[in-house]
Amino acid sequence: MSNLVIFLGPPGAGKGTQAAKIAKEKNFAHISTGDMLREHVSSGTELGYTAKTLLDEGKLVPDSLVIEMLIERLNSEDCKNGAILDGFPRTLAQAESLDKISNQFKIAKVIVFDANHEELVKRILHRGETSGRSDDTEESVNVRLEVYEKDTAPLIEYYTKKNLVVKINAVGEVDNIYNLISGEF
Ligand code: AMP
Repeated sequence: MSNLVIFLGPPGAGKGTQAAKIAKEKNFAHISTGDMLREHVSSGTELGYTAKTLLDEGKLVPDSLVIEMLIERLNSEDCKNGAILDGFPRTLAQAESLDKISNQFKIAKVIVFDANHEELVKRILHRGETSGRSDDTEESVNVRLEVYEKDTAPLIEYYTKKNLVVKINAVGEVDNIYNLISGEF
């Protein structure tokens, strides 16, 4: 059975940066559903076509599509040693879909990235100057933060009830935050 570690937190909290570093260090797969969807958009698949406007507007891609994409990804060879989920689950339905495959994958921990609203807006707009991401814009950022509060933040309680949550302060130096997270693996 492979371990999954979920990185849960608002956009701009640094999940992707930390997931990339930790995954390399611990030989875990780094699964970013946002990166996967952006690849679908740039390679022009049917899923990419459906997802493009939603991504640009900062809205969520329908659960069924993301769940199917994720489950297929988890079956790859590189997930055998474990995987970090960066940006999934984002809704209750997605969380429940993960519970359904708990015979193959065990959620070891849910790391919750804590950062205040102003910091997140600042980081996303700063990232937008170089990321080339069509959703790192003033128009999208507020939608993304609202969607997070409404659809994703309730998962903190869902996983707290399962005793899986570890909260970390995601404001500060990248290396200090890395050390905090690394100690949890
Ligand atoms: P991210 O790179 O994690 O910030 O994701 C960028 C965008 O991809 C989000 O704003 C959503 O439009 C879409 N997305 C990524 N992960 C998911 C997910 N688990 N469920 C629905 N939409 C997602």
